[in-house]
Amino acid sequence: METKKFLSPYLWDLEPYVPGYQPQNNEGLVKLNTNENPYPPSPRAVEAMRSAIGENLKLYPSFDCLSLRSAIAKMEGLSTENVFVGNGSDEVLSLCFPAFFKQEKPIAFFDITYAFYKVYCKFYQVEYDAIPLHSDYTAPLSAFHGQYGGVLIANPNAPTGIAASLREIEEVLRNNPDCVVLIDEAYQMFWGHTAAGLIETYPNLLVVRTLSKGYSLAGLRAAFALGQPHLIQALINMRDSFNSYNLDAIALAGATAAVEDTPYAVANAKKVMATREWFTEGLSGLGYQTLPSAANFVFTRPPRGDAQQVFEALAQRNIHVRHFTAPRTAEWLRISIGTQEEMERVLAALTEIG
Ligand code: PMP
Repeated sequence: METKKFLSPYLWDLEPYVPGYQPQNNEGLVKLNTNENPYPPSPRAVEAMRSAIGENLKLYPSFDCLSLRSAIAKMEGLSTENVFVGNGSDEVLSLCFPAFFKQEKPIAFFDITYAFYKVYCKFYQVEYDAIPLHSDYTAPLSAFHGQYGGVLIANPNAPTGIAASLREIEEVLRNNPDCVVLIDEAYQMFWGHTAAGLIETYPNLLVVRTLSKGYSLAGLRAAFALGQPHLIQALINMRDSFNSYNLDAIALAGATAAVEDTPYAVANAKKVMATREWFTEGLSGLGYQTLPSAANFVFTRPPRGDAQQVFEALAQRNIHVRHFTAPRTAEWLRISIGTQEEMERVLAALTEIG
């Protein structure tokens, strides 16, 4: 059978995003390939989810997700009209493309960034310019100024881990008043800064954050967008044209409790950050070149640039990291930060590999 026979023609050459390997049996495995948080989610969130399981599941979940939106608004010093919630930031980002980025002019993002952005462009038939990062992998943010139909910046960036300052982000906002500037802050908690404070001033700013990393809830699928009400309403309209109950009742209960227990998540993020600094120093001792990371992973180059071999040697030792084979990333490995014990095991393995 011709595999494309029934497929819509515009999807014939679709190239879906390929996530990091997800093994089913985690025993003895050090899994550092998808930037999950090594610490468990808030016990209060787990308890709230347990309580949400019962007869009430016969009903549809909350349509306006008000409890979760209020908890997020309170945490950010914003109002519920500034908050949209979604099924992971992959969904929130996916709704942003048709809502804001299908313009006459192309949108722009960096050549080395979250690989899903290109997939959305293809899926929604949005043209894009991939702006090359500098040779030291820092961001030439002035390259965005004033010529695009939309701007998309992961801050901190992935897989480099490098963060742009809020001053630089504000420059981009000021110089692109006629298009949406989306700041994807998936790794915000491992840095502590956010562009959310600029929302009141800039009607073109949308900040997207996830509970997957900072709140240890990758398995839950919950994320949010922050912006002025006109952007948030546009996202609600998109959602209601696609999947109006996008967060289930259990996820809503768990996410709300997790956000209300943010200090618990912040304390875990601090542990991850301390381990990140320790690990970076250890890598340096082995001759690895590591970019300054503001995220829960490091991007590091083995002394001989033989990342593929090191990747395989680690996998043989049951340690899974991520290797991106595109030309500018092929000599580098992205290693998520696990517990201190896990990272000691990685460093010992790297020492052995040599
Ligand atoms: N943005 C960036 C920059 C990411 O690295 C990721 C996770 N891989 C996401 C968004 C998506 O996260 P989630 O869908 O789990 O919220």
